Amino acid sequence: MTLKNQSTCRLRFAPSPTGYLHIGNLRTILTNYLFARHYGGDFIVRLEDTDQARIVQGAAKEIIKSLKWAGLEWEEGIDLDSRGQIVEKGSSGPYIQSKRLAIYQKMAEQLIRTDQAYYCFCSRKRLENMRQTQIQRKQAPMYDRYCRQLTEAEIKKKLKNKEPYVIRLKVAREEETVFKDLVRGRIRIENRVIDDQVLVKSDGFPTYHLAVVVDDHLMKITHVFRSEEWLPSVPKHILIYKAFGFKLPYFGHLPQLLNMNGKKLSKRDGEVAVKDFRYKGYLSEAVINYIALLGWNPKTTQEIFSLEELVKQFDERKLNKAGAKFDYARLNWYQAYYLKRLTDEKLFSWGKAMWQRFGIQGVEPEQSKIEKILLVQKQRVGEPAQIFKEVDYLLKPVKYATDLLKWKNMSQQQVREQLNKAWQTLDQVKEKDFELERIQQVLTEAAAEKRGEFLWPLRVALSGKKQSVSPFECAWVLGKKQSKKRIEQALNKIK
Ligand code: GLU
Repeated sequence: MTLKNQSTCRLRFAPSPTGYLHIGNLRTILTNYLFARHYGGDFIVRLEDTDQARIVQGAAKEIIKSLKWAGLEWEEGIDLDSRGQIVEKGSSGPYIQSKRLAIYQKMAEQLIRTDQAYYCFCSRKRLENMRQTQIQRKQAPMYDRYCRQLTEAEIKKKLKNKEPYVIRLKVAREEETVFKDLVRGRIRIENRVIDDQVLVKSDGFPTYHLAVVVDDHLMKITHVFRSEEWLPSVPKHILIYKAFGFKLPYFGHLPQLLNMNGKKLSKRDGEVAVKDFRYKGYLSEAVINYIALLGWNPKTTQEIFSLEELVKQFDERKLNKAGAKFDYARLNWYQAYYLKRLTDEKLFSWGKAMWQRFGIQGVEPEQSKIEKILLVQKQRVGEPAQIFKEVDYLLKPVKYATDLLKWKNMSQQQVREQLNKAWQTLDQVKEKDFELERIQQVLTEAAAEKRGEFLWPLRVALSGKKQSVSPFECAWVLGKKQSKKRIEQALNKIK
C-alpha cells in the first residue's frame, strides 16, 4: 500500500492570503495535521502569495491566528511572534513564496535547458484573438503553441530586446495522466485537455502550479490533502513533476462542506470564516470535534473526540468521499457539550468576553449575576451569541398579560394563594442559603402534588414568559430580594 514508512512524512498547509480562513479550509488543514501527527511526521505552514493582485492586507496574520486558536501546532513555516508580526521558523525556508522568486526562475530555466519548457513572447492581443477564434470554432480555448516554433536566434534576440515573456511547459497532448488519489481512488485524465501552461508570468512571479510543485518538492512534502476543487490541477502538477524528474507526493482530495440544501457552504448560510466562529464564542474544541467528524468517519458510535484522540484514532482510509452537510444545530450541540465541561474559571472568563460582545444594551448586571446566568445557560444547547439574549427577562424588567399567570383554569384567587405561598417559601430561606439546590428543594416541597398550579404562576411572575429557564433557576439568578419583588408585582397585577 502507498502509506508505508510514514514516520518521515511531511505535510503542509499552504494558504493564499486572499481572505479569511473558511471553515472548510480548517477541515482540510485538520486532515493534514492529523495525518502528520498520527504518523509522527512534520507539519508546515507555507504562504502562497504569488497572486499579488489578490492579496488582502492582514489576511496572513488572521489565518495564523485562526490556526493557533484551533490549537494546531506546526514545526516549520510562517508564524507570529509575541508582537504579532509574521516570522519564519525551520530550515527549508523561506516559507513565503514571494521571497522565493529566484528559485522558481532558476527551476523554470532548468526546464528550458532540458527542452521541457519554452519562452513565449505572444502579446495579450494575439492571445485574445486566438481565444476568440477558438470560441467561434467551438474549440476549447488553448494556447496554439506558436512560440514553440521560434528558433534559437529569434529567442535570443527577443530576450536581448527585453521583450516581455512567459515561460510555458511543453505538454505532450497524446498522453494521459493516471494517479491514485488517497481519498477518491484511481483517477484518469487525458492530457489533450491540458494546455501548455504558464509556469512563470511576465511579472517574474511563478504561477501557483509551478510554485506549488517546486516548493512541495524542495520542502520534501510527502502527502498533500486539499480540497477537491484542486483536482483538475493535478494532471498539470504531475506533468511538472515529471518534467523535473521529481518524485510525486501522495494526493488526497477532500470533498467540500455543504449547506443543509446540499450546496457549497457559503456566507449566506451563516458564519463560514473561522474568525467569525471565534468571535461568536464557539469553543475551538467544539469546532474541531465537529468538523473532524464531517470529513472522517470513525466507524463507531463515538462522538466526542479531543484533538489528542483524533490524532490517535486518525485513519486516512476512513476519510469520506462524499461532501458533508454543515449543520449549525449540531455544532451548537458540541458547543454545549464542551461549555458544560469548562472549569468555572474558564467559563466565567469566556462569559465576560461574551457579555462585552453580546450583552444587553443599557443593562449592567453585577458579575455574580452574569456568572449565575452562565452556569444556568451552559446546560442548554444554543448559539453562544444568544446566551444572554435568551434570558433577557432575568436582566430587564418584565411585562406580561395578567392572564398568563393562570395555569389552566385557575381562578384569580387560586393564583394569589399560590403566589403568596411561593413568596413565603422563598422568604424563609436565609440570604446565605439562597442557592439553586436549596431553592429547588423548598419550592418542590411547597408545590407537593400541585406542581402546575404552584410553579406556573411563579415562573410567569419571575420571568414574564410562558417558556423560560426553570422557576428555581430564575429565582436563583434574580436573588432573594428581586424574586420576592417580582412576585409582589404579580400579586399587584391580580388585585
Ligand atoms: N494556495 C492554495 C490555496 O490557497 C493551496 C492549494 C494546495 O493545497 O495545493 O488553496
